[in-house]
Amino acid sequence: MQDTYRLEIMSEFLNKKLSSLEPYTPGEQPKEKLIKLNTNESPYYPSRFAVQAIRGQELRDCRLYSDPESVTLRSAIAEFYGEYGISKENVLVTNGSDESLAFSFAAFCENGAIFPDVTYGFYKVFASLFGVAYEEIPLNPDFTVSVEPYLKDARTVFIANPNAQTGIYLPLDDVERIAASNPKRVVIVDEAYVDFGGDTAVQLISRYPNLIVIQTFSKSRSLAGARVGFAMAQEGLIQDLNRVKYSFNPYNVNRISERLATAAITDREYFNACRTKIILTRAKLTAALRETGFTVLPSKSNFVLAGTPKMGGAELQAALRKRGILVRHFDDERIRDYVRITIGSDEEIQTLILAVKEILNEKG
Ligand code: PMP
Repeated sequence: MQDTYRLEIMSEFLNKKLSSLEPYTPGEQPKEKLIKLNTNESPYYPSRFAVQAIRGQELRDCRLYSDPESVTLRSAIAEFYGEYGISKENVLVTNGSDESLAFSFAAFCENGAIFPDVTYGFYKVFASLFGVAYEEIPLNPDFTVSVEPYLKDARTVFIANPNAQTGIYLPLDDVERIAASNPKRVVIVDEAYVDFGGDTAVQLISRYPNLIVIQTFSKSRSLAGARVGFAMAQEGLIQDLNRVKYSFNPYNVNRISERLATAAITDREYFNACRTKIILTRAKLTAALRETGFTVLPSKSNFVLAGTPKMGGAELQAALRKRGILVRHFDDERIRDYVRITIGSDEEIQTLILAVKEILNEKG
């Protein structure tokens, strides 16, 4: 799958602390043309405002460094969330939301971190990279988050909401209970998928000085390849994250991406049209899969986790790949029997549904 990065090759010079680190495995980015439903990108183009924002001059301006403060983009994000009292001092922009997460692991986890046992796989990797001790808190048997273990624990909490891999949304009241239960530790809510049906915790920021909300342009704003994410919190936490950023990469968001993201976030109409479409397609896919006997977890994300008693997740993924459709399978104990399907266009999802039916028929 990976043609340049080979985990098994290491030189004698590598820091010993890194030799046992297990890096994150990104989903496949295929060279050939496949129906790509494996890494939760948007099937829709970025806003036309974004596409039109990049002209010759913007490209020529790349001789200059980008604005290390990303003032234009931070102001645009603050305006988007202005109704919740967010100003640019409450926003940090980063190279994908992965970088906001990395900075949070670097900045706030002296006492260790806790997160669910089924969630975004990068949390463990960042914890290992930054030497953070962590504990994975089991999800309930139905894959919902059990809130109790997070209350009062002294360790930093990372909660993806909706959760990664399951798509299940934790009601905002529960997020608030976690933040309120111990104001002495930081709670990071990773809202990569919140625009597909969840309520954002941004509205809690003014009341909780220990809360960080992280979002991304990669999913609902169709800019995965531009690598832009952002963290929102009260100013103290944002300055802590800046301390890490300015110790690592001050120009972390490039000029072109800042322009793209600034234009995209002003186009509310297109944003709403795209996410509405994805929510509708998700409902159609969920219904069609359930009709064919699949278990489909209730998702508020741009993907569903689905499994059939007729075959394991790996087998289904392989069979779909043979038919030119890429979905993601995780070889993790609790979700091995499932595949994760990104919500594509209606057409792509129709093709997927037909392929699934064919595969099940062949299986008998
Ligand atoms: N958080 C979650 C839960 C994700 O699934 C992803 C996407 N893989 C990310 C963060 C990172 O997204 P990005 O760096 O593209 O913003």
